This record gives sequence, structure tokens and C-alpha cells, in this order.
Amino acid sequence: MSTTLEKSKVSNGRTANVSKNYEYHPLEVPTTVDRKRLLWIYAAPIVGIHLLALLAFVPYFFSWTSVIVMLVSIEIYGLGISLGYHRLLAHKSLKVPKWLEHGFAMFAACSLQDTPAKWVANHRMHHIFSDEREDPHSPMVTFIWSHFEWLLKYNSATRSLTNLQKYSRDILEDPFYMKMEKTQIWPLIYVLHGIAYFVVGYGIGYWNTGTSAGALQSGSSLFVWGVLVRTVVNWHVTWSVNSLTHLFGYRNYDTTDNSRNNWLVGLFAVGEGWHNNHHADPASASVWHRWWEVDLTYIVIRGLKGVGLAWDVIEPRHKRSAVRQSANQ
Ligand SMILES: [Zn+2]
Ligand SMILES: [Zn+2]
Repeated sequence: MSTTLEKSKVSNGRTANVSKNYEYHPLEVPTTVDRKRLLWIYAAPIVGIHLLALLAFVPYFFSWTSVIVMLVSIEIYGLGISLGYHRLLAHKSLKVPKWLEHGFAMFAACSLQDTPAKWVANHRMHHIFSDEREDPHSPMVTFIWSHFEWLLKYNSATRSLTNLQKYSRDILEDPFYMKMEKTQIWPLIYVLHGIAYFVVGYGIGYWNTGTSAGALQSGSSLFVWGVLVRTVVNWHVTWSVNSLTHLFGYRNYDTTDNSRNNWLVGLFAVGEGWHNNHHADPASASVWHRWWEVDLTYIVIRGLKGVGLAWDVIEPRHKRSAVRQSANQ
């Protein structure tokens, strides 16, 4: 693998290694994958919800209110994944009260992206084996593999209880997360939040029109856009962090993987698109390294810290070393 490295100054005066010619190197699927064995437990909801979301093209289900609710929901439930599952649980980049941590995990469950323990184990494996063969979802296999195919095919490494214990032991020590692992409450949380969207929409429709036909249209519209379409969008946004940001974009740091900073994913994935910054410093609660690399998740973290709901927030490495240096002076 050949990389062309050069030193460049970044906006805050730090010096970073910049790799401009990272060479694509094809990989086989992990040795632990049985590509012929379909995981119906993932394939059925993924295919089913994609098909149902097509109802958005039926004019009956359209309303601007529902579209706005969908856009806001994308960000809120996106935070469940980026702040909850990713920075809080997988990387321990900050601490928040338990009730709030569990709340974020519930929002993540509403994105239908697996249990906290499984999500964290898969993600920690991704960091350890990033863009090597045992990475559960490297796009060096194929784009489709990293985007969603890896979820649909049986992988004994990501399905084994031993690996779950190995990579998510700390998560499983929490009785709430263990319960989510052992029971079916997380898909139940998803179903219940879907019903809640319908009921709220129904109520608003009845309030506005005074008819049950109007109420039904409003409830269905909010369900289709706020739940089905939003789930599909949130899936593709998270999946793009695994696929697009390991293929397209620029690199601030010469990490040992092919991670990239991708502004488009950054925009939709509440900051997670600055993925090369993240791989260079996974412990950090922020991926905001250059001025334009806006990290919405970090803005929320700062807000939580400001009101006393977050502490022990790990700042980016360059800020940590600056603090150390001033302490040593
Ligand atoms: Zn990555
Ligand atoms: Zn990570």
C-alpha cells in the first residue's frame, strides 16, 4: 500500500499528516462470514420498512407538517445513534446521568439499529480491524457490503456470545442494556413509538377537521413520514458513515484505514461524517477539528455540559495536549 504523505498546516495552527493517495486495496469478506446464510431477522424489517416507506409517494399520505416532523426526527433519532450508541456507549467520550444515557439508548432503539451491546461490539470491532479483513463492514469488500449487505449475512464473529462478552462486557453489566439484549423490548420500543406517532397525528387531525376521516389521514401521514421514511433515511445516513466515509472525502490524518471526512455525510449524520478525524482520535467527544467541520453532536454535548448534564467530556487530542502543556508550564 503506498501513501503520499505531506505535512500541512490546519486552521488552528496544528500540523497534521495528510494522505492524498491512499491506495484502494480489495478485501474478501471476513473469514467468519457465511455469505449464503441470510439473517432474516434483519433482512425482513429492512426490506419490509423500505417497501412500506414507498407509501410516501401516495398523495393521500402527504402533508408538510409530516415532512417537517420527519426532518426534525431525523436529527433527534440521529443523536440517539451518534451521541447515545456511538460517543457515550462505544467510546465513553463523556458521562451523563444514567436516566439520560438510557433515554439516548431508547431513541437509538427507535432508529431500529440493533441492541446497544451488539451495536457497540460491532463498532469496536470496526475500530480494531478497520479496513482489514475482520472489519465487519469495510467498503474494501464492496460498497454494497459496507452499506447494508454485512447486516444481512451471517457472521459468526458478530453473532457470537463470546465476542459480545469480549467487546461489550461493560455494556452488558448495565441491567437495562442486558434486558434489551435478552428480551424483545427494543423492537417493542420501536413499535410503541410508531403507534405514538400515529396517535398524536390522529389527535391533531381530529382537532383540525373534527372528522375521523381527517384524523385518520393525519395519523397515517405522520406515521408514514415521521416513522417509516425517517427510519429509512436514518438507516442510510448511519450506513453511509460505514460506506461513503471510508471511500470518498479528504483526510486530515494518515490513519491506518481509509477513513475520510465527507461533508455530505457530516451534514446529515449530525457530525459523524468527519470520520477521518474520528478514526484519528476515537476517544474524543468531538470530531470538529477544522472550522468548517461542524459537529452538531458536539454542540449538543456542550449544551448538556453547560446545564450540568454532561461531564468528563473528552476534548480532541490537540486540545488535550494544549491543556497538558499549559499545566506543565
Ligand atoms: Zn470507520
Ligand atoms: Zn467510533
